[in-house]
Amino acid sequence: MARLRAGIVGAGISGASCAGTLASAGWDVEVFDKAHGAGGRLSTRRTEQGWATLGSPFISAKRDPFRSQLRDWVRQGWLTPVRGDVLQGRANLSWSQVQLPNHYRPTIEPSQLVHQLLGNARLHTLARVATLQPRTITMEDGRVFGDFDCVICSVPTPQAIPMLDALPLLRERLGEVRYRPIWSFLMRWEGGPQADVIKFDDHLLDLAVRQTADGPGLWAVHSSHEFAETYLEASVEEASTRAASALMGLLGLPWPVEVEATHLWRYAQPESTVGGFWLGDRENRVALIGDGIAGAGVERAWESGVRLAQALIQAREELVI
Ligand SMILES: Cc1cc2nc3c(=O)[nH]c(=O)nc-3n(C[C@H](O)[C@H](O)[C@H](O)COP(=O)(O)OP(=O)(O)OC[C@H]3O[C@@H](n4cnc5c(N)ncnc54)[C@H](O)[C@@H]3O)c2cc1C
Repeated sequence: MARLRAGIVGAGISGASCAGTLASAGWDVEVFDKAHGAGGRLSTRRTEQGWATLGSPFISAKRDPFRSQLRDWVRQGWLTPVRGDVLQGRANLSWSQVQLPNHYRPTIEPSQLVHQLLGNARLHTLARVATLQPRTITMEDGRVFGDFDCVICSVPTPQAIPMLDALPLLRERLGEVRYRPIWSFLMRWEGGPQADVIKFDDHLLDLAVRQTADGPGLWAVHSSHEFAETYLEASVEEASTRAASALMGLLGLPWPVEVEATHLWRYAQPESTVGGFWLGDRENRVALIGDGIAGAGVERAWESGVRLAQALIQAREELVI
C-alpha cells in the first residue's frame, strides 16, 4: 500500500511535533518553512560565544502528555528546571524572589529541540508558502508540491489567512484571532540586581532572562505588548533606545547598555484563539494547528500538532479532519 503523504507549512513546535508523529507512523511528510531552519518562535540567534534566544525563553508544562515529553528532554540533558534567582518587582520599590514552578530552560539550542521533533520528516528551508489548495502547496517562487493526502498549516493565524483564498471555510474562522507583538532585545549591562530572571512590573518592559550559553552578561529582554504596539512601525534604533533607557531606569543602571540584537515578533502571542486542538476542512483535507488555534504557549502548540497527527494516524485512510 502506498504511504500516506502530508505537506506541512511551518517548522515551529506545532508543525514539527505533527510532522514527527506522522513520520514515525510511516507517513511520508514534507515540511516547508520560510526561515533558515526549524524553531519558529523557539528559534535561536548565534552569538560570539554561543547562542541566545530572542523568542520563548521558557518551556513549561501544566499536564500530560507534554509533561512527559519534558521529562524525557530533562533526562536527555536538553532542558533544566528554572532555578536560581527570579526577581519580580520594580527598582527603587521592592524586589521579591519568586519561583517559576514547572518552567524549564533549554540547555541546547531550542531550535535543535524543535528540529529533533521532526524525526524522519523532510524539511525544506527558505521555502515561503504562498497558497494552499486541496492536496497542494504552492511556494511564493511558483514551485508547486502536490498529491498530499493531507495539507496542514501551522503558521500564526494572521499569516495563514492570505494563503487560504481557496479554502473559505477555514479562512472565515480565523478572522476572530488576534495576536499581540513583542520586541525582543539582546542586551549587555554591568551592575543591576543579582538574578537570572527579572520579571518587571512595568508597562514598557516585561521580562529579562540571563543568556547563560553565551557566558555571563548577555540578557534577552522582552518588551510589554503595549510597548511593541506603540513602536510597531518604529526603527530598530528607536525601539532599542527606548527599551534601553526604560531598562536603565528600572534597574538603576549607568550607561551604557549595549543592544546587540533585536527582533520584532509581530505575532508573538495570541490574545484569542479558535479553540480545540486543530481546525479542519474535512472535505478538502486541510487542517490548521498552532497556538492561534489551540491556545497560547509552547505546550498548547506542541499538543495541537501531536493530537492532529494522532487523530490522522488512528483514522488511517479515512481522514478525520
Ligand atoms: C518573545 C516571546 C516570548 C514567549 N514566551 C513564552 C513563554 O514564556 N512560554 C510559552 O509557553 N510560550 C511563550 N511564547 C509563545 C511560544 O513561543 C509559541 O506559542 C510557540 O512557539 C508557537 O509555536 P507554533 O508552532 O504554533 O508557531 P511558530 O513557532 O510561530 O511556527 C510557525 C512557523 O511557520 C513559519 N512560517 C510562517 N509563515 C510562513 C510561510 N508563508 N511559509 C513557510 N513558513 C512560514 C515560521 O517561519 C515559523 O517557523 C513566546 C513567544 C515569543 C515571541
